[in-house]
Amino acid sequence: MSFSNASPCLPLDPAIEALRLSALRRLNLLDTPPSEAFDRITRLASQIFHLPIAAISLTDSDRQWFKSRVGVDHQQIPRHLAPCAQVAETSDLLVISDLQADGAYSRSLLADRGIRFYAGAPLITDDGYSLGAMCVLGTEPRQISVEERKALQDLAAMVMAQIELRHALGRIDPVSGLPNRTQFREDFDDIARDSAGQMADLVLLNIARPEEVAIAARVMGSDYIDTLIKGAAEMISALLPFGRQVYHVGEMQFAFFVPHDIDIGSDTYRDDLTNFLSEYEYGVDSRFVTTASFGITQFLIGSQTYADVLRMAHSASQDALELVSRVNTYSSRQDVTWRRRFAVLHGFSSALKHTDRLHLVYQPRIDIVSGKCVGAEALLRWTDPELGIVSPAEFMPIVEHSAMIHLTTAWVLNKAIEQLGIWQRAGLHLQLAINISAVNLLEPGFAQNLFNTIERYGVDATCVELEITESALMTKPVEAHHALNRIVAYGIRIAIDDFGTGYSSLAYLQKLPAQILKIDGTFVKDLSKDDRQRALVLAMIKMSHELEYTVVAEGVESEAILTCLKEMGCNEAQGYFFSQPLLPGEFLKWKSESPVAS
Ligand code: C2E
Ligand code: CA
Ligand code: CA
Repeated sequence: MSFSNASPCLPLDPAIEALRLSALRRLNLLDTPPSEAFDRITRLASQIFHLPIAAISLTDSDRQWFKSRVGVDHQQIPRHLAPCAQVAETSDLLVISDLQADGAYSRSLLADRGIRFYAGAPLITDDGYSLGAMCVLGTEPRQISVEERKALQDLAAMVMAQIELRHALGRIDPVSGLPNRTQFREDFDDIARDSAGQMADLVLLNIARPEEVAIAARVMGSDYIDTLIKGAAEMISALLPFGRQVYHVGEMQFAFFVPHDIDIGSDTYRDDLTNFLSEYEYGVDSRFVTTASFGITQFLIGSQTYADVLRMAHSASQDALELVSRVNTYSSRQDVTWRRRFAVLHGFSSALKHTDRLHLVYQPRIDIVSGKCVGAEALLRWTDPELGIVSPAEFMPIVEHSAMIHLTTAWVLNKAIEQLGIWQRAGLHLQLAINISAVNLLEPGFAQNLFNTIERYGVDATCVELEITESALMTKPVEAHHALNRIVAYGIRIAIDDFGTGYSSLAYLQKLPAQILKIDGTFVKDLSKDDRQRALVLAMIKMSHELEYTVVAEGVESEAILTCLKEMGCNEAQGYFFSQPLLPGEFLKWKSESPVAS
């Protein structure tokens, strides 16, 4: 215990002080608004001591900050020569009967302001860190009785109970009653400090797919979701050995560290987890389907952040949904794929805002009999500042599954038709093929916007061709058919792209208002060497002609292939043998120089 003659300038151990400050900051109390729970204690202190001033004073690096105060105007005072700082540094009760008579504190700010008496009890956390003081102050010199000392310490303990309670509340999920993500992060950091360099395993249980949660919430309300969460929390806690902690790390996700004596790679452990999933799904209210899965990840303690480890386990649990066992261990290879996907999605969405990152190239299309260039296909190119050049074969399938496909196609159509206008005015007559996605056909106003664009650039609609893949057409055949009829009635031609790669029904395809069939490059590649391939392509061409399609072969890379196609009666061809896709300027140059195309 310190008395009034104690030195306020004790040498501080910087390491201990740093830990103390970090304990204080973790509690997130500094600079928070006043709260009645604390003010009640401060008022009580002032009444018990019959003193005008009382405060809950927290010792920050250079200031005393008052969480609650009675009779003080300031929210904070400098730490230097503040008696509360001494309480925090020594973790001892401090009583100064008369500040003016005290060697050290007579020159303090408080003494300057007429304060004579000070008594402060330390605010000590469960871990032993002293945050500051519960203090009372008076303008007259005063003594303090044994009972009063005890009362001041009790008040300090009440303040601490309040602080710890608030802190704990922020760490417990109110629905499951389990420690939440914040607590997980703290415990994770503690483990990282104590066991760095060892391996550990984390298991994450995902109790339902997001779309299942959305449907259940919509039909049954959020109370139903809470029931699901509570049920899962109980079951998963019961699965673990006594004293093992389960954390509620996301709305429908629970995580726990695997005890060291368990081999997560063993079949028994995985079987246990799979059995748990069946029991869980059996036990759960079966009015809605919920699909639960486990993701496991192994990590080197201290080398990854808590967020990384949770992300890896979560990613594994998502991939587990594809497995019969629905238990999956994190694989960095799969994860790389997803991260790349995300980067592509993210990068492409900024490309739609900064459209200088996008441009179109045009690949010539040749009439096989005359050898003349009769058209071109517009192909999208994207250069990202970080990812570099990304191939449309990679980004288009990702974009097509997102809402960005609408803006993307709108951009491509506008650019391509503008280019067609430029060429038409320069006397170049080409059929321009533009790739669109099947979902575009379902957009309200898609056809009208297309007609508006054609009119804006004053191009001849019969020179515009839309390419749609056969598999895409099969997903919404009726709606697609309807939109296509309108487009064709306007004079635009339709090509069925990648023909032969899907499982299309020929009966359906032949009802479509399409005029062109593009045989996929994979069938064309080995045409000159492979008899079976030749028979297949010949059959495709014959059949297409009977159905009155113009047939275009894609991916023609050699003269030998071209000769084969010519013999088979294929109408047009496209491929590296003629030209790579070209920029508009290059295209003109190629057309004027190319012996085949002229
Ligand atoms: P696709 O529509 O089948 O386009 C033909 C692809 O084959 C193009 O790839 C083209 O560069 C490539 N190619 C051309 N000649 C040859 C050849 O002789 N040999 C080989 N091996 N390949 C050849 P690209 O430009 O990488 O585009 C890939 C796919 O991305 C396209 O396949 C198309 O499905 C999609 N795509 C490209 N641009 C767009 C667009 O503006 N809109 C939409 N919806 N999809 C696009
Ligand atoms: Ca195409
Ligand atoms: Ca194609």
